[in-house]
Parts: sequence; C-alpha cells; structure tokens
Amino acid sequence: MSQLEIKNLHVSIEGKEILKGLDLTVEQGKVHAIMGPNGTGKSTLAYTLMGHPAYTVTEGEVIFKGQNILELEPDERSRLGIFLAFQYPVAIPGVTVANFLRTAINARRRAENPEDKGIPIPEFRKLLKEKMAMLKMDPNFAGRYLNDGFSGGEKKRAEILQMATLQPEIAILDETDSGLDIDALRIVADGVNALMSKDLGVLVITHYQRLLNYIKPDYVHVMMGGRIVESGGPDLALHLEEKGYEWIREKYVEEEAAA
Ligand code: ADP
Ligand code: MG
Repeated sequence: MSQLEIKNLHVSIEGKEILKGLDLTVEQGKVHAIMGPNGTGKSTLAYTLMGHPAYTVTEGEVIFKGQNILELEPDERSRLGIFLAFQYPVAIPGVTVANFLRTAINARRRAENPEDKGIPIPEFRKLLKEKMAMLKMDPNFAGRYLNDGFSGGEKKRAEILQMATLQPEIAILDETDSGLDIDALRIVADGVNALMSKDLGVLVITHYQRLLNYIKPDYVHVMMGGRIVESGGPDLALHLEEKGYEWIREKYVEEEAAA
C-alpha cells in the first residue's frame, strides 16, 4: 500500500510564501478532504503536487513510492500514479475524447517501453466502453471534441473519465472556488464513489461542505495560513458548515501567539 507523504512543504509564488510548512499523508484506499477559506493556498497545494512550473518549492518534500516527487516532471508524476483533476479543463477542438484518452494511454506505455506499439484499438474500445458504462456515460460522449462546448458538468465527466482510464493511485480533485452546481457536484461524487477502491487514495479540496455530503471523507483537514491547522473525521466538516472558520482562526492565532 503506497501513501503520498507531504512533509514541511513551503511554496512561493512570485516571491510570496503561500504554503508555510504543510504536512499531510494521503493513503491509498482513503478519502482525505481539505477545506479552508479562499486564498489560503489550497489550489497552490494541488498544482504544486502535480508540478505546475509557476509554483516554487522552497523547502520540504513529497514522498511517494520511495521517491521525492518534487524532483520529477509532471508526466513522470502521472506515470507514478498521481492524477490531478483540473478545475477548469482546457478545450481541444479537433481532438475527440476517445483520441485524447488513447493518446494519453499510449504516451504512458511508450514512456515505459519505447518499442511499444500502443494499445490495440479493440482493447482500447473495450476499456473505454467499460469505464463509460461504470460512470453511466452516454457512449456518444467519446466522439465529441474534448471539452469543446462542454457544459460544466460535461467537463467534470471528462475529467472523471480520464481518471477512470488512467487508474491513478492518488487522485487530487480541486473543486474549490468554482460555482459548481449540484448536478456537477453529483457527477464528481458519483464518479469518485464508483472508482473508489483500496488502490485509490483521494485528496478532495473544497471550500464547501456540501460536496462532502456526496463524497464521504475518512479524514477532514482545515487549511489556514498555508498550513493544516486542524484534522478530524467527517464531523469536522459539519462543524465548519455550522460554525464557519472563525473559531479555528481564533484558536490558531492563540497557538501562534503562544509559540
Ligand atoms: P485557495 O485555492 O485556497 O483559494 P490559492 O492557492 O488559489 O488559494 O491562492 C493562495 C494565494 O496565492 C492567494 O493569495 C492568491 O492570490 C495567490 N496566488 C495564487 N495563484 C497565483 C498566481 N498565479 N499569481 C499570483 N498569486 C497567486
Ligand atoms: Mg482554489
């Protein structure tokens, strides 16, 4: 069983420190939720884990399968089993969903073995059909151009289908600031629940408690000031929904003052 171990992570953007010593471990088979006020660095964490070049790691490490993934390129992280579902996926007119997924699978296979001929078409069709059925998707979806004119919900479906096809071991879902409607939330949640297994660890990032009505987290963490300041079970999310973030902010400020 692998786990993603984030240790003392410090990250800056344009010279400003956003993550200030974040520690968190996400195990395969578990759902961890991160909640926190806007601007606290939740998306910064997601992008840093995947290797976005705008974010500079100044201290700390992220260990997965015995490697510090911060030293790897995004595609290497992906091959190692890490996946990030984008909040705002990019449209690629002219490239169908099926083509995109097949290209992604083949890129992985060729990185492992340069001689690889790519996934045989019948095998790919079977895989795609199976995953789309599991996610209750209309088969016509595969023939549409990726995200081109997709509704918010359809974009989410495409991300989840990509996750189903690439079969990551750790999936990061950043849902934070988007105005996801209840249908889109359900799509994400149903997709994640359908894919959930002992081999998949999920880090779901959300500003709102309501997503966690559909994806049941095993652990909930509160992020504030670029750090995890409180961790607990699912009850913590409900408590936050009721009481807001202020009580944690006060407690955290007191702790800082005492330190
Ligand atoms: P959250 O996802 O918790 O709302 P973010 O990680 O998006 O927070 O942002 C954390 C802080 O970093 C904010 O103060 C934000 O303004 C700043 N920030 C994020 N991305 C950028 C960027 N590309 N350029 C400059 N500042 C950024
Ligand atoms: Mg965000």
